[in-house]
Amino acid sequence: MMLDGKIAVVTGGSRGIGRAISLRLASLGALVYINYVSRPDTAEETQKLIEDAGGKAAIIQFNVADAEQVQSAFKQIVTDAGSIDILVNNAGITRDGLMARMKEGDWDDVLDTNLKGAFLCAKAASKPMMKKKWGRIVNISSVVGSSGNAGQVNYSSAKAGLSGLTKSVAREFASRNITVNAVAPGYIVTEMTDAMTEDAQAKIKSEIPMASLGSPEDVAGAVAYLVSEDGRYVTGQTLHVNGGMYM
Ligand code: NDP
Repeated sequence: MMLDGKIAVVTGGSRGIGRAISLRLASLGALVYINYVSRPDTAEETQKLIEDAGGKAAIIQFNVADAEQVQSAFKQIVTDAGSIDILVNNAGITRDGLMARMKEGDWDDVLDTNLKGAFLCAKAASKPMMKKKWGRIVNISSVVGSSGNAGQVNYSSAKAGLSGLTKSVAREFASRNITVNAVAPGYIVTEMTDAMTEDAQAKIKSEIPMASLGSPEDVAGAVAYLVSEDGRYVTGQTLHVNGGMYM
């Protein structure tokens, strides 16, 4: 299979989009380290889904925003598995609210998890990747990082920041055969969108040329392409997966 022998780390790989990415990479032959921060039950469910389908998975708990935890987790993975070939920076949170009322802590939490977390994990994963002269880093961004969104100044700033991080790190690692890209989902059916009213969902659909929400598998497919050999000459790019809502 395409990713046989590869070691992948998916931050926030326990549920939602991260789960779909974990399942996809495992189905292609990778050993997937499923990361979570607070809910071990969902990580165990994801591991079981992978193993029941004949794949390989391990669970690793750490907070992506905590430098010490990230360093020791990545060290442990390299000790146990021998290397890290693929990193998907998927862990993300929202703390929405209009800027005038947004608390400083809500800005810091979202920037720390969504942007600093990606920096810390990319830094930690780059060491084994450089040693091997092969690596794939994919940052999960969002359409609002490009379009902006009222009520999400913290989140859209973090996701826009991911775009700069993606391009700069791509330039730093290009000569080492390590590609760095972003995937920017639009509206995806997850627990978050399930909680919306029918009216709210209808309004969103009316803004999407393809008139439907995406699935976590749509995002996983884009990640699978970027980490594959077919994606070897693609670096520093953002692949938008949004049904045409932002072009
Ligand atoms: P979910 O809220 O369903 O899952 C979030 C995951 O991230 C969980 O596994 C959670 O672990 C983990 N996580 C959160 N904080 C941390 C942390 N500090 N350290 C480690 N893990 C953490 O998210 P989605 O699947 O909806 O989103 C996944 C990514 O896709 C995010 O980056 C999001 O911004 C992006 N995205 C989502 C869209 C959507 O429509 N859903 C649209 C565009 C982008 P635990 O369960 O333990 O808390």
